[in-house]
Order: sequence, then structure tokens, then C-alpha cells
Amino acid sequence: NLSVFYKVDIVVIGAGQAGLSAAYYLKKAGLTSGKGFVVLDDEFGAGGAWQHRWDTLTLQNVNGINDLPGMSFSDAVNTAEKALQANVALPQYYEKYEKTFELPIIRPVKVIEVTERNGRFLIRTNGAQFSARGIINATGTWKTPYCPKYPGWERFKGKQLHTGDYKSAEEFAGKQVIVVGGGISAVQLLGEISKVAKTTWVTRRPPDFRNYEFNPELGREAVAMVDQRVREGLPPNSVVSVTGLPITPAIEWMLEKGILERKPMFKEYTETGVRWEDGTTVDADIVFWNTGFRHSLDHLTPLHLVNEQGGVPMSGQLATQVASDPRIHLTGYGPSASTIGANRAGRAAARELIATLSL
Ligand code: FAD
Repeated sequence: NLSVFYKVDIVVIGAGQAGLSAAYYLKKAGLTSGKGFVVLDDEFGAGGAWQHRWDTLTLQNVNGINDLPGMSFSDAVNTAEKALQANVALPQYYEKYEKTFELPIIRPVKVIEVTERNGRFLIRTNGAQFSARGIINATGTWKTPYCPKYPGWERFKGKQLHTGDYKSAEEFAGKQVIVVGGGISAVQLLGEISKVAKTTWVTRRPPDFRNYEFNPELGREAVAMVDQRVREGLPPNSVVSVTGLPITPAIEWMLEKGILERKPMFKEYTETGVRWEDGTTVDADIVFWNTGFRHSLDHLTPLHLVNEQGGVPMSGQLATQVASDPRIHLTGYGPSASTIGANRAGRAAARELIATLSL
């Protein structure tokens, strides 16, 4: 093998909120760019997954974007302009952030596989190869859409799309659409699509609408629950299972219009749609899956971190440290899968990894 491995102390994989926060704290702790650490990201530009979000996700209807450490969102973007698209505003913010703090981000570089040999990690990419003593993995979830397969999917003649494919409601205009999923994205996109198409809403469990605004106390509860799960080695689960769906004016409107009359999950596909347990059928041109994403960890497979339950047992102050190997941190994973969580995780991971490696 003639590959040259660039030796660094730490490789951060991914430059979304979680990777940028970690990079900021590594740099602040005195690690040098290039020799001390690098950040590898497979996108062409700044913005992490935000650059791929649909155009109607604006500063008005995002759940709330937490500032990255050291520079506020409003320093980079006119956050008072609520109609601003998140897929424009966040990339702008991250780009300014990366430049201001001179973070050593190399892109586009896709990490294909991380292996371990003689106490070092070998990071194989589609570009240069790296060798590091520690890893902060911050690869998010956007690249791993989750779509359960129901019997007969191969016989269905219509189209199947996932949240990650969504650009605008136009693609659905005049069509019959089955929208699957009970999370925030499902409800928001159902609202948009129902204005131009005939929709049927399908969820596994009855939706849990609650009449209050999302508040920090609820957020903390949700995070504590996921924190406990990952420490036990269980796969992280959805925050909506704790917080429910707060009733917003948009949801109120949908409830009034009957758009949120929900059916249970169907049993199987037919050629032209789907069929339920009781034999009833609905025809569909498109089945639109809003069934979430999974953490993008495939490149870490050779490290055997995932247990038989499908989780990675975690430890450390904010559960970013892989319990079986403290030289590996996962940020933006489980309890830190939000912009606020990602920030804090970046800090904890940087601090703990520097201590573990005695840097
Ligand atoms: P990402 O932003 O996904 O960054 C990961 C980066 O790693 C990407 O650039 C990716 O391309 C790169 N990458 C992946 N695999 C590799 C690889 N093998 N090699 C190299 N690079 C790789 N959170 C909030 O706090 N507020 C909100 O309003 C909010 N709205 C959301 C709306 C939607 C529709 C979704 C899906 C999520 C939302 N979230 C929100 C959650 C939010 O996206 C995350 O909390 C946070 O932005 C994710 O940051 P991240 O750094 O973990 O991941």
C-alpha cells in the first residue's frame, strides 16, 4: 500500500453544527490546524445538512437555531428577516464562522472507512488518507434516510419519496399522496402538500398533539431521556415521543380542515396504492415517507461500535464518548442531535479527548 497517511492528532468528521463546535474548542485549546487536527467534510460548501433543507423551511418555522460558540447567528445573518430560508441562512452563518476562526476544514472529502492499527486510526477517504490518535465523529443523519419496507413495495407502480427528497409541494400538485410519519417534518410537509394534492395521513401511533408551546424544560426532559438510552447502549429515539407535537397556528388550521385525520399504518402495497388490515384500500401516485433519519455511522463499521441492540454504548459528561474506546467521540449523536446539543457536545468532546490523549 503506497498511500501516504497525513498524521494528525485528531480528525473531526463532518462540518455541521456539531463538527464546527468541536473544531472551535480544539482550536481554542491550542491544537494547531493541520498538525493538531483537521475537519473532513463531504460537501462542496459550508452549511452541513442545512444546505439541503427545503425552501419553505424558514427562520419563521424552524424550531430554533442555537448560536455556535464565539459568534452569534445574528452577527452573520439578518435573523429578524423571518422569511429567510434556512438553507440560505445557515450556510451563510457557517461559512462566516469557518473563515473567522480559520478552522482547518478540508472539503469535499468523504470518509469511507475508519480502521484501527497499532494504536492509531486510519481514515480512508476519497481523497487524501489520514492517520489520527483520536476521532470526533459529527456526521449527522441527513445522509441516512430511514424508510421501513412494507410487504409488496416492489409491486407498487407509483413513486416513493422521503423527507430528504422534498424540494417543494409542486412535485405533488394534483396527485394522490399518502404521507407517512408522525413527527414535526411529516406534519409540516403534510400541511404544504395538502394545499395542492389529495392527501391521506398515516402514522404508526396516534399523534400526540399537545396544547402548549415548546419550552426549555421539555427540551431538557427529552434530552435526559435520550442521554439515558444511549448510556445503556440503546439506539437513540425520537424526541417527539417525549415532547409530543405542540399545537401551532398551522396545526390548528390543519385540524380545522380535517387534514390531520389520521389512519393507522397500512398492511401492504397494492399495484396502485396501499391496503389496510381490514381490506380497505387507497390509491396513491406517491407514498411520501417522513420516517426520519438514522445516524450516519457506516464508515465506522470496522471499529465494531454498534451492539446487538443497534446502539453504541456511550459515556462521558454529555454522553459523547464511546464507552468501549474513549478515543472516539460521537457528537450530534443521540442527546446532542440538536443545534444546542451539538454545541455543548463539541465542547465536552474536545475537552475529554484532549485529556484522554494527553495533548
Ligand atoms: P449535519 O448538519 O448533518 O452535519 C454533518 C456533516 O457531515 C454534513 O456536512 C455531512 O455532509 C457530513 N458527512 C456525513 N457523512 C460524512 C462522511 N462519511 N465523510 C465526510 N463528511 C460526512 N435542530 C435544531 O436545533 N433546530 C431546528 O430548527 C432543527 N430543524 C431541523 C429540521 C429538519 C428537517 C431536520 C432533519 C433536523 C432539524 N434539526 C434542528 C436537527 C439539526 O439538523 C441538528 O441538530 C444539527 O443541525 C445537526 O448538526 P450535525 O452537525 O450533527 O449534522
